[in-house]
Amino acid sequence: MHRVLLAVTVLSIAVAAGVATPPASAVPPPAVGSAGAPGTPGDRYAAQPPGKVSCRPGGGSRISLRCVIGTSVRGRAIVAKRQGPADAPQVLLVSGQMHGDEWPGPIVVRKLRRLAVPAGMQVWTVKTMNPDGRAQHRRHNARGVDLNRNFAARWRARPYAGPRAWSEPESRAMRRLLRWVQPDAVVSFHGFSESVDTTGGGRRARLARSFARLSGIGPATPVPCGGPCRGNLTEWYTKVSTVRGAAFTVEMPRSSRVARRCPTAGGTALPVVDCAARATLALLR
Ligand SMILES: [Zn+2]
Repeated sequence: MHRVLLAVTVLSIAVAAGVATPPASAVPPPAVGSAGAPGTPGDRYAAQPPGKVSCRPGGGSRISLRCVIGTSVRGRAIVAKRQGPADAPQVLLVSGQMHGDEWPGPIVVRKLRRLAVPAGMQVWTVKTMNPDGRAQHRRHNARGVDLNRNFAARWRARPYAGPRAWSEPESRAMRRLLRWVQPDAVVSFHGFSESVDTTGGGRRARLARSFARLSGIGPATPVPCGGPCRGNLTEWYTKVSTVRGAAFTVEMPRSSRVARRCPTAGGTALPVVDCAARATLALLR
């Protein structure tokens, strides 16, 4: 073992001095989900997933990586998929559903996964972070907690917020993913007031206004939480992002079939879920 280490060290010194080229066999293959050797230009996040996240190649033509980022209270897998290469400099993340009775977001994710990702971009999608709620068609998780009140953003004890911030496995799973990949933008889909939330100001509100313009979903307006907005995903991520990333909420209309004039399709009318998928991919352009 020591001899191998010594040989690698000598080779590294020789390469650094410009006197040798490493043989192909000396270069380790990239790990699954790798963005290249840590520290190389363009790396946005560690090549290896954090603990409790397991990834494998996506298998399909569009999906490059599939990761289980955690499990729900009832043991259902919470799955994140990546389109595009890991070393793409722009990182976008879409949360399709936090509240299990809000169905348009998962449809937007399904549409989005069929689209080609623009060059230089990688897109992470979580169709639902609340698979138990989705299975029962109810807002809360299996313990009756509203996941969008369980994040550590001015969390306070109140009905449905959980006994403490991060008490729920579903919110911890999303924290794991967001801390790892550090998106430039996070789009969090909800329903059903048809608006794009500009709460918080700054980069977060600017992104929200861009999305409203691109999607035809409007208006861009502060969306109340039925009281003070505490413990929500978008405020938490915008506060802790190490890359000055921002997250915002999109409230979809109740019908996924309703058509809207779609700016990214030259102004032709498209089903609102299709236009939202296209707007998401255009957001960082
Ligand atoms: Zn919601």
